[in-house]
Amino acid sequence: MKNSQGGADAADRNSNRHPKEEMDRLAGLLRRYQHEYYVLSAPSVSDEEYDRLFERLKYLESEYPEYARPDSPSQRVGSDLMHELPEVEHSIPVLSLDKAYTDEGVLSWMEKTAGAAGEPVTFLAEEKIDGVSIVLYYEDGVLQRAVTRGNGYVGNDVTPNVKTIGAVPLSLHKVSDLTVRGEIYLPKDRFQDINSRMPEPFANPRNLASGTLRRVRSVETARVPLTMFAYEGIFPDQEETHDRVLTRLEELGFRVNPRFRLFRIDPADPSASGSDWEEFKAFLKQENEERDSLTYEIDGLVIKVNELAPRERLGYTSHHPRWAVAYKFESPQGITRVRDIEVQIGRTGRATPVARVEPVSIGGSTITNVTLHNQEYISALELSIGDQVAVSRRGDVIPAVERVIEKDAGSPPVWKMPENCPSCGRKLQQKGAHHFCVNPDCPAIRFGRLRFFAAKGQMDIDNLGPETVNTLFEMGLVEDIADFYRADYSQLLGQEGFGPKKVELIKRGVEKSKQRSFRTVLTALGISDLGENVADLLISGGFSSMEGLLEAADRDDRDALSAIAGIGPKMAEGILSSLRDRRLREQISALAEAGISMSAEEDRRKAAGEASGGEESGQDLPRIFEGQTWCVTGSFESFTPREEAMEEVKKRGGRVVSSVTGKTTHLLAGSGAGSKLEKARSLGVSVVDEAEFLRLLGRGESENKAERQ
Ligand SMILES: [Zn+2]
Repeated sequence: MKNSQGGADAADRNSNRHPKEEMDRLAGLLRRYQHEYYVLSAPSVSDEEYDRLFERLKYLESEYPEYARPDSPSQRVGSDLMHELPEVEHSIPVLSLDKAYTDEGVLSWMEKTAGAAGEPVTFLAEEKIDGVSIVLYYEDGVLQRAVTRGNGYVGNDVTPNVKTIGAVPLSLHKVSDLTVRGEIYLPKDRFQDINSRMPEPFANPRNLASGTLRRVRSVETARVPLTMFAYEGIFPDQEETHDRVLTRLEELGFRVNPRFRLFRIDPADPSASGSDWEEFKAFLKQENEERDSLTYEIDGLVIKVNELAPRERLGYTSHHPRWAVAYKFESPQGITRVRDIEVQIGRTGRATPVARVEPVSIGGSTITNVTLHNQEYISALELSIGDQVAVSRRGDVIPAVERVIEKDAGSPPVWKMPENCPSCGRKLQQKGAHHFCVNPDCPAIRFGRLRFFAAKGQMDIDNLGPETVNTLFEMGLVEDIADFYRADYSQLLGQEGFGPKKVELIKRGVEKSKQRSFRTVLTALGISDLGENVADLLISGGFSSMEGLLEAADRDDRDALSAIAGIGPKMAEGILSSLRDRRLREQISALAEAGISMSAEEDRRKAAGEASGGEESGQDLPRIFEGQTWCVTGSFESFTPREEAMEEVKKRGGRVVSSVTGKTTHLLAGSGAGSKLEKARSLGVSVVDEAEFLRLLGRGESENKAERQ
């Protein structure tokens, strides 16, 4: 029956043959087409034809697995099976290169090298691709192992993933054993698009390529169009020169970057006739100018001794080969060393590794901590403690590790997340890219929740910053969020930094936070997925009270929540299940008892109460003091203690400082103002008295009040 379907096309005609014969023929054809497509960028068949042959080969391999070859072109699509990334030792250490940052630096390296080479040498300059270094081990002409650089001695075996990269030949003709070094990279024009689809975006194409190369399912690697340039080959029959090695790699089917140049330079007399020194300098300049227009990223050039026999004589230092140097385009700014990697447990239990680095100054600020996000991020960087790293400040906010400059050979190739929570000791659990502590009693999680609740953006409790919350937590005065409203703050008296004034201010801050709206309270509970936006959606979607939400949780009424546009079924399920948590329920009741708003209706009642003589909450006040820096001195009739006046400034967007400096814009001077008043006058700071201040607040004269209503 099979044969009766035979049409005019090649695959079916060939189905009369022995399947092995047809599989070999298809493999040969597809190998050629892949080479044309991925290496030469000159396909000779249509995509449809290619797909048809590919599907046919995959079909035959599934029918006759006994004939499937390990170097089959079908390996390119990867597999859905999980594979390990075991650590393997390199047969020859993969050392990093010594670096030079100027023409003169390169010239002095050339001088040293030419002197030690023992014979005349030429220099080959090639582009230093900013990708992921890989070592490919071929045995009997077949790719056996692909290993990341790691610490130079030990790397990770990523063979199934590398097999999905079309530019990497899976088998070679004419050569049996070969070791190839190359740089795997993601073309620049694909980075934005692919990065936008990643759950955790990467800082640059190199990190994305590296992360992709470390997927535990090769099918995920196959989805990203990685490619490779080969730049080093160790043949069993030694070649004489490096440019000859490159040609031979190309002949074997590797992609070789054609943008390299050979220079004949006499370093002792670089400007002698016949010396290419001027051409060499022009080449460095040209590369630096053209780098942005290339389809891949380069961070410099590599200059190598072209002759291989002198290379052997030159040998290696303990860190670098003596026969090559990296010329880097950028000066070494923001370079530091990782002293330690600490794991922080946040309020959701998520474990975030943070690098403690030797203090380094970038753009005027000193960096000592750099977040490393998660294990995947660290693995992509191949980072471990002791490594020298380049640190940047992207968008001038969060410092990030851009790359590892120099591995610490004594450390493991990649830092590993500890098995257990550093706070409570419970085993961490992996969910997606992140690790979590799932112990609800974990001190770090409880502290994180407290800190979150009191912080700006949530209840914004004045005078309850992280350090004060920490003191309260350690003293056992506040153990869960409802305790903020039950604690006896007078017990703080006597602790360092807690005088009667400070304690009074804390009490006031706590009292004031009772005015926060239901929306804010809902957000401050720290339920995952329930941020400000979702709180708004819930309230405007009919869930304007805690009671309503808790009832929906009891009924597990996911449909009611997911009926609201913007809330999906999964989110609905998560929120409702959080709201069924017994502890959270207890905390909610305690908060309600303390007078915290539990509905939009209650918000309105409170607002109405306020309008008839209550204190203003500060949430909707005009920010008339925005950008101003106030100092308050002396005593006042309407503000006792004077901290009350400071509060008024803060509520309207101003900053309050304790002494008058050149940066102070206003001095609020009460009666008995002394030296501060003099200083303010000498510095030309605006001086405001109590009456004027009251006018600014809009409560100076009765007619003003009338106008406002
Ligand atoms: Zn824990």
